[in-house]
Amino acid sequence: MIDAAKLASAPPVIPPPETTRTSSSRVACDGATEIAASLGHPRVWLEIDEKGYVDCGYCDRRFVLIGGPADVAVDGRDNGAAQAA
Ligand SMILES: [Zn+2]
Repeated sequence: MIDAAKLASAPPVIPPPETTRTSSSRVACDGATEIAASLGHPRVWLEIDEKGYVDCGYCDRRFVLIGGPADVAVDGRDNGAAQAA
């Protein structure tokens, strides 16, 4: 049974820790971001596969290939940009 009131007050689904959209299928991650530069780790190279994304094993950061299979499903915010491009 679905409690509509509870659903309405629930926070939205928590997204992955961080998603970075990239135009290259090969990306380097060292864990440093503008938001949390202290959460660094040794730099690793990640290869985006046919799924269109890859998750960093150190910091769980997700790299999504722009225009790839995973790029469209992130959320609806990029719809306008995608049409303009
Ligand atoms: Zn990382």
